[in-house]
Amino acid sequence: MDLTDPGDVTAEDRAFRAEVRGWLEDNLVGEFAALKGLGGSGKDLEAHDERLAWDRHLAAHGWTCIGWPEAHGGRGLSLTQQVIFHEEYARANAPSRVNHLGEELLGPTLIAFGTPEQQRRFLPPIRAVEELWCQGYSEPGAGSDLANVQTKARLDPSTGSGTGAQWVIDGQKVWTSLAQFSDWIFVLARSEPGSERHRGLSFLLVPTKQDGVEIRGIEQLTGGAEFNEVFFTGARTDADLVVGEPGQGWAVAMGLLGFERGVSTLGQQVGFRRELDALLDLARANGSLGDPVVRDRLARADVELEVIRLNALRTLAEEQAPQQASIAKLLWAGWHRTLGELAMLVRGSDALTAGPGYALDEWQRLFLFTRADTIYGGSDEIQRNILAERVLGLPREAR
Ligand SMILES: Cc1cc2nc3c(=O)[nH]c(=O)nc-3n(C[C@H](O)[C@H](O)[C@H](O)COP(=O)(O)OP(=O)(O)OC[C@H]3O[C@@H](n4cnc5c(N)ncnc54)[C@H](O)[C@@H]3O)c2cc1C
Repeated sequence: MDLTDPGDVTAEDRAFRAEVRGWLEDNLVGEFAALKGLGGSGKDLEAHDERLAWDRHLAAHGWTCIGWPEAHGGRGLSLTQQVIFHEEYARANAPSRVNHLGEELLGPTLIAFGTPEQQRRFLPPIRAVEELWCQGYSEPGAGSDLANVQTKARLDPSTGSGTGAQWVIDGQKVWTSLAQFSDWIFVLARSEPGSERHRGLSFLLVPTKQDGVEIRGIEQLTGGAEFNEVFFTGARTDADLVVGEPGQGWAVAMGLLGFERGVSTLGQQVGFRRELDALLDLARANGSLGDPVVRDRLARADVELEVIRLNALRTLAEEQAPQQASIAKLLWAGWHRTLGELAMLVRGSDALTAGPGYALDEWQRLFLFTRADTIYGGSDEIQRNILAERVLGLPREAR
């Protein structure tokens, strides 16, 4: 989505776009130039430390947390300018960010639900990319059905430093992305014994670097282990590191999911356009563009990407419409997964084999990783349930 296309942006927005573009041109040079295109879904293990340095460079120049209010260390930018930033970032092929869970999920949640002390303690190191976060929601028996969380937390009054009491956590999380790089994990845990479903849960901030937390990588189809199992065995965190009221964590957890399905995805079709253009180049180069089926599917992908762009524009216009997040997720996730399948068609039958040592090329990796796009962040089926029940008012599914 290039907001300059519709011609409805302000002079201020155009100047902002020029500022972002200029800054990225001037700064994605030297050691950082080598990071272009690195990281992202299925590639998050690539050059992690170097990308961390890049993120800190962004932070030092005020380019992290740009949508946060100024009072909390952000720039307080409008939604339109945030999207412009994400578009220019994607256009510059800048590396994928390492702390998006802290910046885009936990930060806004603390701003909305945290105490002033929690905000003072945790927001500055997120903004400066000094502390990395991961998300401890899913469990073996609680994915789409998140209210089935079984990890337990109890308040132990006899321990702890400042407040004299600590939470003690026991249980297991799974599919925890980037836990191995994280300093902290936000955990949804059952703090009221005997409680059921969404009642009696608490939203806790837990340090990962302690004896009671064990992180085990899970190898993915793409060969790397970006996500993990996280085991809590008597893990501890201070009593005041609960966000919202104890037992009322469901509201906080849902608030966070609203941010997860939010702004950052609006600019991503610029990156998708680059992937589609590269696939088109490959189809030209290897002759598969001569196949009418391939041509037809590439054309369809092009048209559907335009629909995603227009939907993003509509989302900007309707800003707070609740259905937009689900519609956007359904559109981009399905499109991207289909692009992965199309890439295999263009690559032809030799795409069926990996190189020595399970070496995958970018298209094989795209195909394999995009199987996950329609699962994480709320699966397609769950998005359709949300639209059916909460937007269209259809009868609720039997529960
Ligand atoms: C790459 C990746 C990264 C992830 N990172 C994290 C992370 O950092 N932190 C974290 O907490 N979690 C993470 N997850 C987990 C993710 O949130 C869950 O996988 C997702 O919520 C689905 O849960 P599940 O895997 O338990 O599948 P299930 O909930 O068991 O679903 C299985 C299938 O049944 C369907 N289904 C389930 N319920 C319904 C229903 N009511 N109606 C219709 N169909 C239904 C689903 O759509 C799916 O197709 C990640 C997942 C992936 C793939």
